[in-house]
Amino acid sequence: MDLEVRSIQEEALAQVDRAGSLDDLDRVRVAYLGRKGRLTQLLRSMGDLPPEERPRRGAEVNEAKKALEAALGSRGRLLAEAEEARRLEAERLDVSLPGWRPPAGHRHPVNLALDEILRFFTGLGFETVEGPEVETDYYNFEALNIPPEHPARDMQDTFYLPGGLLLRTHTSPVQVHTMEARRPPVRVVVPGKVYRRDADATHSPMFHQVEGLLVDRSVSLGDLKGTLVAFARALFGPDRRVRFRPSYFPFTEPSAEMDISCWACGGEGCRLCGGEGWLEILGSGMVHPRVLEMVGYDPGQVSGFAFGMGVERVAMLKYGVEDIRLFYDNDLRFLASFPDRLVEPARPGIPELHEEVAP
Ligand SMILES: [Zn+2]
Repeated sequence: MDLEVRSIQEEALAQVDRAGSLDDLDRVRVAYLGRKGRLTQLLRSMGDLPPEERPRRGAEVNEAKKALEAALGSRGRLLAEAEEARRLEAERLDVSLPGWRPPAGHRHPVNLALDEILRFFTGLGFETVEGPEVETDYYNFEALNIPPEHPARDMQDTFYLPGGLLLRTHTSPVQVHTMEARRPPVRVVVPGKVYRRDADATHSPMFHQVEGLLVDRSVSLGDLKGTLVAFARALFGPDRRVRFRPSYFPFTEPSAEMDISCWACGGEGCRLCGGEGWLEILGSGMVHPRVLEMVGYDPGQVSGFAFGMGVERVAMLKYGVEDIRLFYDNDLRFLASFPDRLVEPARPGIPELHEEVAP
C-alpha cells in the first residue's frame, strides 16, 4: 500500500479510537471522508498521477475508505450505547419518593345539613322545588297574609330593588308559586337562599332556609307534629324530646315553634343551649285559610301545614358551630374539619403525606 494512503488511514483509525463522543466521531468522519476530507482529496488528485498508477491508487484509497467507514460504524455504536446509558442514569426517577396528593374536596357543612334535611323529607314523599331569589312584594309578603304596614314586615326587613322587586326574606313565596301552579295534594320541600337586614354572630344577611308545605284533605295539627317529631329524631338522635311552643306567623294559624331537647347536655342545661336544656329548631303551623284562598284553594275543602327552618342554624346545632360567619369565611381549616369527604383522592394508594390543606 502506498505510504501516504497508509499513513492517512492509520492516523484516521487512531482518531476514531480516541473519539470520546459521537460529536468527536463526526468530526473525524468529516476530516477524512467529507467533501474536503483528506481521503476525498486524495481521490480527486489522482488526475495528477501517471495513468498507469491510477487504478492501484484508486483501489487503495477505496480500501482505506471502507476500513475507516467500518471503524466509524462500530465506534459509533459503542459511543451511542454509552451515551444512552449516561442519559438513563442522569434521568433516573426515584420511585420510592413520597408523592404529592392533591387535596380532596369536602362538601360544605351547610350543604351537608341541607342534604340531610332534604333526604329525610324526600324519604317521606315530599318533592324538592325551587324558586326565584328576586321576588315581588306580592309573593314575598301580600300573598302570605302580610299586607303593607303589617308589623311582621319589620322583622323581615330586606333589600329592595328597583321596579318593586326585592330579595326574598324567606322561601315561602315558592309555596305560593307552587300552589298557584298545582291542585292539591301538594307536598313539597323548598330549599334556597334568603336575605334579611341582619348581621351578627348568629345572623347573616344571606342564609339558607328549607321550607315544607303539605296541603290535602283533612290535614291536621297531628300530622304536622308527627312529621316534625320524626324529623327532629332523624336529624338529632332518636332519644330527642320535642316541644311545641305557641307562636305567631302571619301565614299560619295556629303557629308553633318547635324545640328539641339539647343533644349536648340531654336537657340539663349547658353552653350550647344557654342553660335552657332546649334548642329552638324551626317554626311551623297550619296554613292560614287566607293564604289558601289567595291561591284559589277552598279552605273548606283542604287544609295544610307548613314549616321552615334555617339550614345554618341546623348545621350550627348539629356540628357545634358558634359563629354563623365561619360558614362564609372560606377558611379551609374550618371547612376541612367536617368529616364528610365527597371527592375521592385522585390517585389512591399514595401514602398520606403532604395532606395538610394550606390555611
Ligand atoms: Zn344543653
